Amino acid sequence: VPGLVRWDHPGWFAWFPSNGHEHSLLGDMLGAALGQQGMLWMSSPACTEVEIRTLEWLRQCMGLPDRFAEGGDGGGVLQDTASSAILACMIAARDRATKGKARTHGMHAVGKAVMVYASADAHSSVLKAARLCGIGSECCRLVPVNTARAMDVEALANMMAEDARAGSLVAFCCATVGTTACGAIDPVAALADVCEAHGAWLHVDAAWAGTAALCEEFRPQVVAGADRADSWNFNPHKWMGVHFDCSCLWLADRAPMIESMSVTPEYLRNDPTESGLVVDFRDWHVQLGRRFRSLKLWLLLRCTGAAALGDMVRHHVQLACWLEMQVHASDVLELVVDRSLGLLCIGHVRGDDATQRVLDAINADGRFSVTHCRLGERLVIRVAIGTLCVEAEHVESLWEAMSAHASA
Ligand code: PLP
Repeated sequence: VPGLVRWDHPGWFAWFPSNGHEHSLLGDMLGAALGQQGMLWMSSPACTEVEIRTLEWLRQCMGLPDRFAEGGDGGGVLQDTASSAILACMIAARDRATKGKARTHGMHAVGKAVMVYASADAHSSVLKAARLCGIGSECCRLVPVNTARAMDVEALANMMAEDARAGSLVAFCCATVGTTACGAIDPVAALADVCEAHGAWLHVDAAWAGTAALCEEFRPQVVAGADRADSWNFNPHKWMGVHFDCSCLWLADRAPMIESMSVTPEYLRNDPTESGLVVDFRDWHVQLGRRFRSLKLWLLLRCTGAAALGDMVRHHVQLACWLEMQVHASDVLELVVDRSLGLLCIGHVRGDDATQRVLDAINADGRFSVTHCRLGERLVIRVAIGTLCVEAEHVESLWEAMSAHASA
């Protein structure tokens, strides 16, 4: 179709998948047809209640810790995107670190720098959030990564200690489970030790890799350390098959978020809210209005089921393992870092110019789409396997084309 980019094509190996399952599509249509507005519990009780229930089901299916459970101090909420989740959590962390002063009097009244941290490979939305919430990009420190491209824990500890000594407020750290560049997984539990020592908010961004927690065999690496995190987020709109947009955020303690986000003009006052017995999701993110977004997630879980979604992930990882074996056996192409789930980063042994030629040739072929990244100095071709209809034959054709171009 002219002007469209087919993210659902079996030859789509670019960026990350953005899948839309048919059950999610029906849920999205139903949500639109019902036209609910779920800003307050009383503005659509079902919109709030189904969302609470669905996020609790999903939490259990993914083996996420009880600290995020419905009925506790925290709970789950849908955001539009991972970027919004990071922004909301950073604002709550900023306010917690400044004891509300940034919120009430502004950053100038705090009189100290408020510091946030993420690895050098973290998603750009962390830096963007720091810019947007008045912390400033200079106060967003990008922590070096180790050879596996995961955040260097010692480097984080040194940075936080240095900043605390200089009188700054150490407020927030974003750990990434599955970096955009190469799928690296930060050591969340070890980072939690460092954050705890400084009272910093620990957020986990598992935007892409989070879906793999549906599989018991991948769960340990995906949810490791989650029981120490203040917030944990992933995007069902990437790998899992919920149509964009749908991003799940779980909080261990909702109170700081509500304190930061809650502004109640007269026209929003109502008895259920005053009773304190209901959830008003408008206080769990930046925007006021919210659609019945949970229906597409609910229908996907009800009709496709978590087991089938786990099988889909398994299938993609198996295809990625096959490709990994071919690359290992190749004389001209190599993996620049270890495969992460369904993602491989491949370089030409003769260097960046040769890698660029292979990248251009594959994209010019017309059957496939791949994107690039830089890992340190090295240019790599990212192959992200994860569309709903990708099969062995598609990965085999990609490899055939890739190895032929690389050897030419
Ligand atoms: N975090 C990671 C690790 C990502 O890979 C991405 C996007 O690919 C994002 C955050 C941003 O996601 P969103 O488009 O939901 O804001």
